[in-house]
Formats: sequence, structure tokens, C-alpha cells
Amino acid sequence: MNLAVVYTRAQLGVEAPPVRAEVHLAGGLPSFNIVGLPETAVRESRDRVRAAIANSGFQLPQRRITVSLAPADLPKDGGRFDLPIALGILVASNQLRVDGLADYEFLGELSLAGEVRGIPGCLPAILGARAFGRTLVLPRDNADEAGLVGDCDCRLADDLAGVGAALSGASSLDAPARIRTSIAADLPDLADVRGQARARRALEIAAAGGHNLLMIGPPGTGKTLLASRLPGILPEMSEEEALQNAAIASVCGHALDPARWRQRPFRSPHHTASGVALVGGGTRPRPGEVSLAHHGVLFLDELPEFDRRVLEVLREPLESGRIVISRAAHQAEFPARFQMVSAMNPCPCGYAGDESGRCRCSPDQIMRYRSRVSGPLLDRIDLHVEVPRQKFGRFPPGEASAPVRERVIAARSVQARRPAINARLDAAGVRRHCRLDASGERMLEAACERLHLSARAHQRIVKLARTIADLDASEAITTTHLAEAVGLRQLDRDHLVAV
Ligand SMILES: [Zn+2]
Repeated sequence: MNLAVVYTRAQLGVEAPPVRAEVHLAGGLPSFNIVGLPETAVRESRDRVRAAIANSGFQLPQRRITVSLAPADLPKDGGRFDLPIALGILVASNQLRVDGLADYEFLGELSLAGEVRGIPGCLPAILGARAFGRTLVLPRDNADEAGLVGDCDCRLADDLAGVGAALSGASSLDAPARIRTSIAADLPDLADVRGQARARRALEIAAAGGHNLLMIGPPGTGKTLLASRLPGILPEMSEEEALQNAAIASVCGHALDPARWRQRPFRSPHHTASGVALVGGGTRPRPGEVSLAHHGVLFLDELPEFDRRVLEVLREPLESGRIVISRAAHQAEFPARFQMVSAMNPCPCGYAGDESGRCRCSPDQIMRYRSRVSGPLLDRIDLHVEVPRQKFGRFPPGEASAPVRERVIAARSVQARRPAINARLDAAGVRRHCRLDASGERMLEAACERLHLSARAHQRIVKLARTIADLDASEAITTTHLAEAVGLRQLDRDHLVAV
């Protein structure tokens, strides 16, 4: 045989498109070429494959070796193709005889000594191989990822010699141990939040309807404390959601924590974070914070301190639940369906409206400060609530997360019969599921007139009222629900929203 085809996978966003590594041996002067990889990657891969073959008890054939990775238009950087390339050479030169090679896929970087090394982003490939019904041979370093996926046929590779021996039937490779996942019980609990009844209520409503939330208040009033309690009152992720989330973490090279499996992520990037860190990017596109927060919570503290351009790019994922990163050659798409919780001071010094009277900011300074958060971004935030300073010692411990979470889950189960959760209902969904009676219509109209609300704000209020009614187990949206919704839009009343 002078030709061998070995299956493997590339990595594009959180997808792992299939790749064929074709190895052809021909007469003529000995040479070793790899087609389909960038020049530097070719050189490095060639050196590793050559040394690994020699150090594993095999020989590099003294012929013209051509390796072609197809299709040609996929990003094929990184060492993940070393193992399939080396195996292709061994099969094409009859040093290995393998039955049913087409039933396998291989991934792994080789060391010069022939050891198989772990690669980032293995989970998408595991899911891909499972969908194709093939056995995936992957580095032992990636065993945890394989252990998380049920019904996948994976084998763990330690070194090239061992893989060769297993493929020729002389020995076998271990299957990864199935990892038992659990729900961690150590999430921060709402019982730690004392007082702040309005903000707690807003957090519960945000959780129940998937609404984005903005908290406004001076430093030290518990905004961060509250935000970090959101994952603990949300329903756990489904198996499918957890896998999607783990695939993103895997691409980023983050270690998976089985103890936090199905626990919704909470990401809180600092306001100095770059656009790339926040939404993803780079020459080899990597997911950013918005994707790491997929199916979870993205917390932006000190919202006006974020670079305005950085905040602008958040609009795409907030609208579509995904982010597309375009590079000259490729387009990578990452899921980014997160719930945004943000916090800001009421003014540059932080004490506007505080009874201590220590704020000396002029109305103009306050306006400028708030306008750093653009209207279009605010338009995507359903709830804005004040978190004022409270007096110490007057408040008993707050209600714990567990009962709140039960109410949230009950409200979400009602929404399961609708096309989307309330926050993501489109105009048709709002018309159908968020109907107001005549007195509700009149009340909302009056509020819109008084507060000069936009059509968008109008729709946000109706969706909020729907969630409040769901928490109340009420089919109809009453004027009480509606009034509470209007009251949870602090910035509508402040008239300080810059557009
Ligand atoms: Zn101030």
C-alpha cells in the first residue's frame, strides 16, 4: 500500500469539522511534505512526526512522502494532526496493518520521544466523532473531557508505539472512566444578603424571566453580593447546555470541574477588559467572556467604566445569543446566550442621592457619567433598580436561595409552553402571550405618556409584567403586575438615558 487515509478533526469556533489526512508515498528523492497547513506549522509538525516515528521503534520511509489535509479551507493549525499523520505514514509504508481504520478518528500532538500530548478543545471533537459513530483515539491528558460525554466511544493514547500496537491487535487502549457529575452545593446563598428587599425582588424577577438587570447604587451596598447569587437561584443547566458550555471551556483550554457540571457559569470581567477578552477574537479566534458565560451570567460591575466600544460589541450577542468573529480566512461563531447583570454608581463619586449629602457632582457630570452607557445597550436591559445604602444592624438574614429558586423554576415551567422565555419573546410572542386588559392598557399608556417612554421600553415593561404574573401563578397580567414592572425601570424615571 502506498496510500493511507486517516480521519481526524479541526477546530473552528466550538465546532470540530472532520478532516481527512491522506498520506501518499512515491518514488524519487526522499522528502516529506505536508499540504494544507501553514508553513511554520508544517515545519514543526514534520520535525515532531519524524522524531516520534524514529523514537517509537518505526522508520520514516526513505521515499517521497506527501501528506494532504483536506478540506483545504479549514484552519488546521496546532499539533493535533501529528498522531493521524504519523499513523498514516506507518500504514502507507506497511509498518502497521490495521483493519477498519475508517472506523477511527485520531487526535493528538506528538513529543519528539513519541508520547501523545493533550490538546485544547477536545470536547467538540468528541461530540463530532460520537455523531459520526466512530471511535476516537485521543490523548490521555484529555480523558476528563471524554469521561463527561455519555455514549461516546473513546480510547486513550499514551504514545505512538502503544497506539500502533493497539491498532494492529497486539494490545488495547483504555477507555476513559465515566466521570460522575454533580451539582455543587457551595454556591453563594441569598441568605447572606440582608435587607435590600427591592433589589432581591428584582433579582428574582430577572431569574424567573431571563431578564437583563442593572443595579444602581453607591459602593458597598451589596450589588456584587446580589449579582453573584443569581446562578444559585437559576435552574440548573440541562445535559445538552452543560456540554455546550464545557465545549467552550475546552476550546479555551480551561480545566473542567465535574463538581460544577450543570452549574450555570458566573463571569465577571474587569472593566479594563479588552474587546477581545470580552467577546472573543484573536488570530486563532478564541471565545471571550460572553461565550464563557453561555447559559449563565455575565456580570459587568462599574458599567460606565467599560470602554464604550467594548460595550457596543455586546449588542450583537445580547440580540442574537451568539458572536461571529470574522478573520481574513475564516469565520468562527461562538454561542453567547448569557444573562447580563450590571452595576453602576449613580454618579462619578458614587454618592448621588445619598442622605449623607457628600456628593458634590454637578448634574452635568452625572449626565456625562451615565451617558457612557449608550441608549442602545440600555435598551436591552429590562430591569433597572436602585440599591441604596442601608443602615446597619436593622435587618435579619434574608430568605435563602433554595425557596427563591423553587419559585423561579415554577415560573420558568409556565414559560416552557411559550416560544421563548419572557425576556426573549419577539413582538409576535408579546402580542400573543403578554395581553393586557383594558385597564392595563390605559395604565400603561398613561405611564408611557408621563415618562416619555419609547416603544421599546413599552415592550420591555409588558414582558416584565408577564414574568411578575408568572411568579404570581397568574394567567392574566393585572394592573398590580404592571405597576410593579413600571417601578422596576428606574432610569425611565430619571430621564438620564442618553440616546
Ligand atoms: Zn457624586
